[in-house]
This record gives sequence, C-alpha cells and structure tokens, in this order.
Amino acid sequence: MSASLFSGTYQEARQRFLEAARRADTAVQHHVHPLKGAAGEEIGTDTALLGPSDADKLFIVSSGTHGPEGFSGSACQLAILNDELAKRAADRGIALLLIHAVNPFGFSHLKRTNEDNIDLNRNFNDFAAPYPDNPVYEQIHDLLVPKAWPPSPENEQQLGAAMARLAGQRNPGVSSGQARHADGLFYCGTAPAWSNHTIRSILRTHGTKRRHIAWIDVHTGLGPYGHGEKIFGRHSEATTKRARAWWGSDLIVSTATESVSPRTFGHITGCAPEECPGVAITPTTLEYGTVPNPVVRGALRGEAWLAGHPDAPEPVARAIRRSVRDAFYVDADDWKGMILGQFRALALQTINGLAAEQ
Ligand SMILES: [Zn+2]
Repeated sequence: MSASLFSGTYQEARQRFLEAARRADTAVQHHVHPLKGAAGEEIGTDTALLGPSDADKLFIVSSGTHGPEGFSGSACQLAILNDELAKRAADRGIALLLIHAVNPFGFSHLKRTNEDNIDLNRNFNDFAAPYPDNPVYEQIHDLLVPKAWPPSPENEQQLGAAMARLAGQRNPGVSSGQARHADGLFYCGTAPAWSNHTIRSILRTHGTKRRHIAWIDVHTGLGPYGHGEKIFGRHSEATTKRARAWWGSDLIVSTATESVSPRTFGHITGCAPEECPGVAITPTTLEYGTVPNPVVRGALRGEAWLAGHPDAPEPVARAIRRSVRDAFYVDADDWKGMILGQFRALALQTINGLAAEQ
C-alpha cells in the first residue's frame, strides 16, 4: 500500500497531488514555471493548504527542492492527504501547507539542480554580499566535472585520491556550496532563482500572520539506505532547544562532524525568518539515504557534464538522467516503507510539538 504512493514521473506525481488535494477539499494554488517539463508538459510549484486557514500555527512540508528527490517528498505529501494527519493537526489548531515540487524543472527533467544548474539549497543567500569561498571545492572542481563522459580511468583514479585526501574537510566541505563555477556541482547562482522567488512569495502569502511555523523539507541521497536524518542548521539556543524538545536528541546539527552533510550556505528554510519576521520558525531537513555515496557522486557528475553538453547523444543523456533518478529514488518496497514510516513519526512529533507551544 505505502509503495503505491510513489509516482514514476513528475507529471504523475503532480497529477496525483492535485487530485488528492481537491478530494481533501483544500485550498490549492499553482505557480506555473516559465519552462516546460521533459514530456513538454506544464510544470510548476503547487501548494495545498489544509485545516484552519487562520490558525496561528502552520506546519509546512515541502518536496523536490532537489528535483528527483521529490519522488519521496511527493509520496510523503500524498500520505498526508490520504491520512488523518491533517485532521489531527486541525483539531489542535494547526494548519498544514504542502509545497509540491520546489524545483519542478529538475523534478521533471531528472536533475538535482534547476534550469540554470543552480543548487537551490545554495541559492537562498544574500546576493548583496559575496558568497563564502570554498577552497575545498576549488581543489576538486576540474576532476569532478570531466571533459568527457564517461570519465577516463585516470580521471576516476585522480578523483578517488583527491576525495580521500579531502574526506576530513568539513565546513566548508566539497558540497557546502560554491559561487565560482556555473558548470560545477553545488553552484549557488548569481541571483535568486525562479523557485527562490516562488517560495518566498508562498511564505508571504501563508506565513506572515502565524505565531509558529514548523517546516520539514524532504530530501534524499545522503546517509544509510532508507535512514532519515533530521538535519538542523545553526539556530538560536531557543530554537535549538525547541526543536530538540519536539524531535529528540537524534536531531543532528549540520555543523557537527557526525552529520551526513556539511554546513551549507543559502539553505531554503533560511528564508523563512526573512519573509516572516517575528514568527517562531522551527525547520529541519529530512534527509533519507539511498545508494552509496560514490554512486550518488557519479550521477551528479554526469548531470553536471550533461548540463555543459546539451548536444550529447540521446542514449548518453538518457542514461545519465536515469542514473540521477536511481541515485535519489530507490524503486523498492522496503525503502519506500522506511521513507513513509519515518516521515509519519516525524510529522506526528511536529504536530504534538506545535500543539504544545503557546
Ligand atoms: Zn537534497
């Protein structure tokens, strides 16, 4: 049953989300993206608001910040729409906002980055100030994005040696974000992307009048198979204390060495305090493990190479897209069950936590 909540394409995921949202009698809004999807379809970020719209507490669940990571986030959102969770939240004075496909272009075209090779989780920064240097990424960029695809054995060998040398480097780490290579991985862009503007406008519409906002942004691709790590950014002591009270001490602060991810700059949930000043915000990134890290890295390298070679032969492009999908979405029932089970537990903890706040 749980596996059936996962869709095979963005188009299917969007259609099922919108149908379930209509059946649940929610307020739906569409933010249509200027470009088309992989099958020529309209793409966009859709929102569904459930429960008491004027509630002073709001629980946000967002999906697809990193394109095909949206297969899991979308299934979690569909689970909410098909479940009694929203009613449970509503009974406790909490509204639920589902943001479907933050990066609809990447979701449909099977790429983690957006239409401009921007990593959206590095794009929510202050572009008036310089993006932090990333000397660790600088050491490895030329090896990460190879001249030819597939990469030569020499390239693989040199990259393996460089990764081993940099393995202990964190904060910044290779994936913290970088501003110098538009053709590279973890690129922050030079201005707020379409998705950045869209998310901020959704927050202004739905968030500014609340007292409390909890936000779970669902991701995949890091960590042990099927394990959901609750990654938490650097926040005030009060926010950290509140988050631990709701979600437990297995909340992992992203600057800690045990986190699956180094600290990143320009994180999506960082815009919530900017757009909703005075509101108590409690955010987490729920990060599910998929396949071993070198496999994920190989897929991302292919994605970056393909972005720089739009004239690549169709079979090569198709194989790369497929490898990206497989790196972020495991099409297996045990994995899907783990995703939904852990999501449900975290969602219930969030509802209980929000309900207990004054
Ligand atoms: Zn992600």
